[in-house]
Amino acid sequence: MQKSLICGRCKETINGSTYLVSPNGSSEYRHFWCLLAYFPMLNRSLMAAGLVGTILILLNQGDFIVSGNFYRALIWKIPLTYIVPFCVATWGAVTNCKFID
Ligand SMILES: [Zn+2]
Repeated sequence: MQKSLICGRCKETINGSTYLVSPNGSSEYRHFWCLLAYFPMLNRSLMAAGLVGTILILLNQGDFIVSGNFYRALIWKIPLTYIVPFCVATWGAVTNCKFID
């Protein structure tokens, strides 16, 4: 019989996928949605998105931006260039801390 695990954030029993995080050196289990509220993971994803997104914008749109030739598509291309690496970094972190019993 499998031991029931308690989420370290919401304190409810975890029935589905379980994720293991280590806040302050101790380990705790979390639900998927509670994992997405884990600040250190979000912070790392934001830093990765800031770095990678800026590099990609400079590579892909830098010549337009430097020349002052802003075109309408930049309104959605620039935010998307930051959102994609944020999602990739978060997805990598989520899959890495999935707990397999
Ligand atoms: Zn929870």
